[in-house]
Amino acid sequence: MFFTIKMFLTVKKFLKVWRRREIAMSETIVQLGKGIIMLENNYDANLTCIELDDNLVFIDTGRNYDLALKFRIDMEKRFNKKASHLLITHYHFDHYGGIEAFKDTEIVAAESGYNQFLTDINFYLTKEKREKYVEMWKKQAKESNQEVPISRQIHWEYFPKANLISPTIIVKDKFEFGDNNRKIAFEVTGGHSKCSAIVHLPLDNLIHVGDNLATNPERGKDGFPGYPMQFYRYGLNEKTISVLKQIEKLNIDTVIPGHGQVVSLKEVSNTVEYFDDLFREMKLMFRENIEPDSSILEERLVEFYNKSITNWVETIRQQYKTIVQEQTINEIEEKKRQMLEFISNKDLEKVLKFYTEDFELFLPNGFVIKGVGNYRNNFPSFDDIIEHSICAEQYYFLDNSVVENSKYKSILKNGKDLLNYEKTFIYFWKKQGKSWVISKDITVSESVY
Ligand SMILES: [Zn+2]
Repeated sequence: MFFTIKMFLTVKKFLKVWRRREIAMSETIVQLGKGIIMLENNYDANLTCIELDDNLVFIDTGRNYDLALKFRIDMEKRFNKKASHLLITHYHFDHYGGIEAFKDTEIVAAESGYNQFLTDINFYLTKEKREKYVEMWKKQAKESNQEVPISRQIHWEYFPKANLISPTIIVKDKFEFGDNNRKIAFEVTGGHSKCSAIVHLPLDNLIHVGDNLATNPERGKDGFPGYPMQFYRYGLNEKTISVLKQIEKLNIDTVIPGHGQVVSLKEVSNTVEYFDDLFREMKLMFRENIEPDSSILEERLVEFYNKSITNWVETIRQQYKTIVQEQTINEIEEKKRQMLEFISNKDLEKVLKFYTEDFELFLPNGFVIKGVGNYRNNFPSFDDIIEHSICAEQYYFLDNSVVENSKYKSILKNGKDLLNYEKTFIYFWKKQGKSWVISKDITVSESVY
């Protein structure tokens, strides 16, 4: 760990920049080519209108219904055509809050995240609950006596007002439409969120990447072209960078980000390069067992300092946490791959090394097997496994363990018949020395068919 006076001063400098004030809210109409108009919407998502031969296609709505409706009506007048589609780049409120302005059009969104979206709008994010959330946030802000950033003030204003409706076209991978002059491809890529999609207009050399990229006015426009949105709040995942790398291979002149000014492909490449380098350093730090709390004191991170990242210290710390989590998941995935191999080889003793001594197996009937010794005697038979796999749905990071929600599937030979075995379970992973081991297996359900 390096903690020199010099380093301390540098950290102080970061903190000073962190507290920089923000600029005023504004909306700007930007023409991006013949029949492509963007409403650059500071502190909110960009709205985009694309003209087809017979109708208009919109991308994202921002949070403000009135503004979305006004933009739609203005564009309908300007082109003398009606809106036919709204494409939603992902299920985040700043991108669909104004959805009601398009209730009479086809609304296109990803299949991934769709069920959660329906649950949200019918249960977690009903109007009544949204009002309560905002009340709570305002109260918390008042109590902590902290200045509320404009972007949050805007969120609080529109979050409780919106009437939320469901998309009408649910896309698994790709939805393509258009006419002779213009092709539009809505492609679910993931990245910023699992439900993230990009909108590619190949004949226009233009792409909308949603929040896989954002140039946020709060962070200043000087210095660096753009950062993927979640870099600021949650830490950026590698998937987002791989989506941007895919874009680098396309013939593109203009890239529309989820937020902020449009950028060139070159600027996207610069962003990719920055994060590639940053992630490389952070992965090295992970291998050296550097804790997230001391990550920011690493001198090697100073070269990544950029004055346009206002929250540099917190942002970098959060980013390192994300890298640590991603690398941990990689390690655990590798452990499971090895374990499946030992199971295939019917090597029970090696398989049992993946469990703690005090391992507990909870079965759906309420039965509990305690201790790895007892587990050895009760281990399911390895005989005749034709193939098997484990697929993690989700990982959760707790203080001293990682919780995995997963599914195991196998095909077993039973005499002349083949049987399918499926088990849904929750693993509790614990770090023992340098290696991850399972301390609890909660079997939620299992079936043979
Ligand atoms: Zn957004």
